[in-house]
Amino acid sequence: MEYKVRPGVQSYFNETGLLEKLDQFLLDLGLERVLCVIDPGGFYSVESYLPKRFEAVEATFTEFNGECSFEEGDRLTELAKEHNVDAIVGIGGGKTMDVIKLVANKIDIDFVQIPTIAATCAAWAPLSVVYTEDGEYIDFYEFTRCARAVIVDPRVLIKADAKFFLAGLTDTLAKWYEGSIQLESMERTPNLELGYQAMKICYDFIMKDAKEALEAIYTQRINQSFVNLLDVIFATAGSVGGYADYYGRQAGAHAVHNGLTHLPEVKEFLHGTLVGYGILVQLALEEKWADVDEVLALYNDLDLPCRLADFNLSIDYPDLNKAIEVMCLDHSPMHFVRDNITHEEVFNAMKQLEDYLDQKAK
Ligand SMILES: [Zn+2]
Repeated sequence: MEYKVRPGVQSYFNETGLLEKLDQFLLDLGLERVLCVIDPGGFYSVESYLPKRFEAVEATFTEFNGECSFEEGDRLTELAKEHNVDAIVGIGGGKTMDVIKLVANKIDIDFVQIPTIAATCAAWAPLSVVYTEDGEYIDFYEFTRCARAVIVDPRVLIKADAKFFLAGLTDTLAKWYEGSIQLESMERTPNLELGYQAMKICYDFIMKDAKEALEAIYTQRINQSFVNLLDVIFATAGSVGGYADYYGRQAGAHAVHNGLTHLPEVKEFLHGTLVGYGILVQLALEEKWADVDEVLALYNDLDLPCRLADFNLSIDYPDLNKAIEVMCLDHSPMHFVRDNITHEEVFNAMKQLEDYLDQKAK
């Protein structure tokens, strides 16, 4: 594998006021004809800020069909070609951002991302996760072309359900616990050091700002902690992969997520929420109980799930073994925690965590 540095998007804005002049903003980027793909689910949060009419550029609008599939990619590609656009603008959640990247990279045009939820760093990361029309995972694809601009408007993001932001926080927190496994012990080049520091910044700011940021959502009043954590979820998290590449990759927390998604009981939970539980299992496997305490204190503050019962499961649940099998497959990121982790070790770590939480509750 070749180590590569991909710093990220060409410009990033975390401010209010840009959306009102979006058409002039696009023209200033040298764009004249754009296709705007809008996720109807997030439109309510952005609608009142967008220009009533696009005058500076010619804009065609279409609704995202809800899935980042090859079929939806083909439909948008045809639309982009038909209107001869020079850029595509995505307004919505992670799947909208992903399908935009798929199309823009396929026909080699610019793209601008306007996220309406902060659940992942999809607006920044140069890769797309592709699903079937029925929502089954197919694969992920990496790209060379990055966004011309990502526009994060706190007024928009604060309107989304808090569960998205919380999932974004735990998915981003995992960057530190998973990514630092390899980087901690190796001699880091300057670029790897940037990746390492980016992980550390994710961790530091989440620990410092999470509680107040959540307060901002509950009271619908933007504060500096909320603005900081938007940077962390989109830009800093995106920079982890950009500079650390595969040295900062996923490990135990995402492996736990990958296994759990095979159980119908957890269907209702967001990616980042399951990864958040995975952090605890990974730390139990590493026997880092002081870190478990620190993460539990954070989850307690944020009212986040931390045990199997919170996910409609228990340690005696028969199908849990199926999920653990997936966590321990040969190619699973679980083996970055340490080589050849066994089914039994993972089961024991989950059991220990349950017992530990029981003890604490007494
Ligand atoms: Zn993730």
